[in-house]
Amino acid sequence: MKTVKIKDKEFAISISSDKIQNAIKQVASKINNDYVGQQPLFIAVLNGSFMFAADLFKNLAIECEISFIKVSSYQGTQTTEDVKELIGLNQNIEGRRIIILEDIVDTGITLDTTIAKLKKHKPADIKVATLLYKPEAFKNQFIIDYVGIEIPNDFIVGYGLDYDGLGRNLSDIYKIIN
Ligand code: 5GP
Ligand code: MG
Repeated sequence: MKTVKIKDKEFAISISSDKIQNAIKQVASKINNDYVGQQPLFIAVLNGSFMFAADLFKNLAIECEISFIKVSSYQGTQTTEDVKELIGLNQNIEGRRIIILEDIVDTGITLDTTIAKLKKHKPADIKVATLLYKPEAFKNQFIIDYVGIEIPNDFIVGYGLDYDGLGRNLSDIYKIIN
């Protein structure tokens, strides 16, 4: 089995690049159908979502825009449940149809806070597209409109996701083994 070592931890391959790209094509195809003529504004949550946002965007055929914001709630391999301020929203979103792009929804705390903060700017509506979703870890009520791949509650790295800043460059996704 393909493994990688990042700092003190070992990870084994879990989701191949091909599987990731297929999941993204399916999400893109649904959004292409749902948003014809709507010119949605995608808001990608940095840092983790940068690869997903880039690959999803290449598969979109509708007129659309993208903007990037930053929030951060993870330290090492544990969620701190302390969502920081939303940085970088420098665009008027009033009346716009928003699709938030996330790399992964774990507890959902980050997104719940992000959605609440974005709502204050009076968008027409807000939907969520995430590449990965951990249903066992999810603690919130909001609806996740577009999910690429559901995964078990393991800590993962690769394809934009990091362990202490490293591993984002891997094109496959790896899960922690020890
Ligand atoms: P949540 O607030 O839903 O618990 O977690 C949201 C953020 O934590 C995600 O956007 C992601 O940046 C990070 N995160 C959650 N699970 C993982 C994981 O398994 N690996 C990594 N590297 N980051 C994760
Ligand atoms: Mg994220």
